[in-house]
Amino acid sequence: MRIARYTEGDDPVYGLVDADGKKIAEVTGDPLYQRIELTGRTTTVDEVRLLAPVIPRSKIIGIGRNYADHAAEMGNEVPAEPMMFLVPNTAVVGPGDPVVIPTELTSKVSFEGELAVIIGRMCKDIEPEEAKKVIFGYTIANDVTARDLQRGDGQWARAKGMDTFCPLGPWIETDLDPQDVSIVTRLDGEVAQDGHSSDMVHGVAALISHASKSFTLLPGDVILTGTPAGVGLVDPGQRVEIDIDAIGTLSNPFVASE
Ligand code: MG
Repeated sequence: MRIARYTEGDDPVYGLVDADGKKIAEVTGDPLYQRIELTGRTTTVDEVRLLAPVIPRSKIIGIGRNYADHAAEMGNEVPAEPMMFLVPNTAVVGPGDPVVIPTELTSKVSFEGELAVIIGRMCKDIEPEEAKKVIFGYTIANDVTARDLQRGDGQWARAKGMDTFCPLGPWIETDLDPQDVSIVTRLDGEVAQDGHSSDMVHGVAALISHASKSFTLLPGDVILTGTPAGVGLVDPGQRVEIDIDAIGTLSNPFVASE
């Protein structure tokens, strides 16, 4: 099932997207928290503005260096345990929304195409074998990173957490094998990243288990599962598109702050 959050000019609503990614059937309520029913109203993806499919009420947990080829390209070792960081929900934007580069703070902004996991049930201290039960679904994330701030600050709060630095979308896919998707990122149409989730150092079940040992996970929490090799800098005026075959495409233009 594909669940989109969108607006036709009024308040955001949710809908089920068909297999072709073209038609939307509106539902009542928020599928993350409520039982949903079809309203009978249908529209098309082209006629609405898609929004980030989830705005986490609690937290986004990022995972660093979870693909060996990406850790190597950055000159880093693969950590023995998943390396976690937090991103504020104010960083989230939707498909098509501009990523605003604050040019007074950074001159080295990079894209990172990633599979994102959305938690559906409150949980704590769960084992990897139980992880599937707490997953609501999956979407695509761009873990936008200011490399100069990442290196200079000594921690990653600003580098990855600034406003608009966490595009999510285009919708949530509830049924896929998270270790069997390709992740392809294009910069202005040129393929930069061509990875596969089977190459994660720590798989999704292990990441959820690890995170739940430190944090209570709540419905709507998002886990960014790390990026494969091929990251690169993006300038204002360029566009980044991330394809995950089983989900769709997340596309965002990058612009300079005023
Ligand atoms: Mg990342």
